[in-house]
Amino acid sequence: MYKAFLIKYGEIGLKGNNRHLFEDALVSEIARVLKKTDGDFLVTKENGRIYATARSEFDYDEVVEILGKVFGIVWICPVVQIEDNGVEDLGENLIRYIDSAYKDKNFTFKVEARRARKNFPLNSMEINQEMGHILLEKFPEMKVDVHDPDVLISIEVRKQINIYSKEIPGQGGMPAGISGSAMLLLSGGIDSPVAGYMIAKRGVKVFATYFHAPPYTSERAKQKVVDLAKIVSEYAGPITLNIIDFTAIQLEIYKSCPHDELTIIMRRIMMRIAQDLAEKNNCMGLVTGESIGQVASQTMHGLYCTNEVCTMPVYRPLIAFDKQDIIDVAKRIGTYETSIQPFEDCCTIFVAKHPVTKPKLDIIKRDETKLPENIEDMIKTAEETAEIIICEK
Ligand code: ATP
Ligand code: MG
Repeated sequence: MYKAFLIKYGEIGLKGNNRHLFEDALVSEIARVLKKTDGDFLVTKENGRIYATARSEFDYDEVVEILGKVFGIVWICPVVQIEDNGVEDLGENLIRYIDSAYKDKNFTFKVEARRARKNFPLNSMEINQEMGHILLEKFPEMKVDVHDPDVLISIEVRKQINIYSKEIPGQGGMPAGISGSAMLLLSGGIDSPVAGYMIAKRGVKVFATYFHAPPYTSERAKQKVVDLAKIVSEYAGPITLNIIDFTAIQLEIYKSCPHDELTIIMRRIMMRIAQDLAEKNNCMGLVTGESIGQVASQTMHGLYCTNEVCTMPVYRPLIAFDKQDIIDVAKRIGTYETSIQPFEDCCTIFVAKHPVTKPKLDIIKRDETKLPENIEDMIKTAEETAEIIICEK
């Protein structure tokens, strides 16, 4: 029945050139994701709206699911398109549409016509009245409510005539990549994939770094991170994942530093490596899944010590989230089931029984000097030998 989708997007803050960038980015993102479907679509921008018009058969559910993951879309309206064959024909088509779109006719409605083409015999007001009348006659259960209708039936008279009344909620946010790029520290846990999703929602192109410690962490732990990056990429677009072999560095930390400070020192080195890779990829910031107080290393003292090595902004989208709120998002976006697979990442293996909850920066820095002199070379080697995987679904 549907031949096109009208895409509505948020317009707050979209002025001048920004608006045009936003729209163009959204058009190309929609075109990109629709190529993944069986359908052939033409994506166009017209008067502050975007249309994806099918030029072939397509799978409605698949297309709605895919559009439902595109950042920047606020509403997805499936549209019935008919040729202009006069008022009577419009009425018949409208009746057919309402009959198949709504099994139960017990609702209030309002017809809202827009006439972009002035040679249609009725003006907008007259279309509203005439079509309202036709519907009431055909379906006596339907009632008009012009102030707060259950169903708003839109009729747009253009070259063709568009009829739509359903609005499927989209993700909101800003189109992929429009804001710049950032480097996500992506582990196999619940939090960091959610942080990646959230930063991407603001139009940030996501790169990722995963610290892998073979043989202490398994191939399956690594595969889990790749799988998570792929799930996030369904929203964020392709993600370049850097896999860092962290074993040698971790063993050195374990050998040289007090065990209650392991996590903080390890995290400081992770941040430095991620930052170097971020610079290499022209990223403007780092992103983590940290949340105040969630674990020992994420107390304000811990974050203070970790953050001290960073010269670029560190974005922590989950900083004020409770764990349950993060889990709710993880379930909604589809990362949760993968995140709870039991393969351990390096943090859980080299962990102290009683990590410091109030690390002091000067003491951490003093203890870091116990690391061997060649630690800088080891960091450099780890960066240079990163395995790079493009994650995309
Ligand atoms: P997550 O669920 O994201 O793993 P977490 O609650 O387990 O978070 P930590 O293990 O303390 O928290 O990690 C805090 C943050 O540090 C993570 O959200 C992630 O951004 C980063 N991080 C931790 N371990 C790794 C790793 N092995 N590779 C990449 N980043 C990591
Ligand atoms: Mg973790």
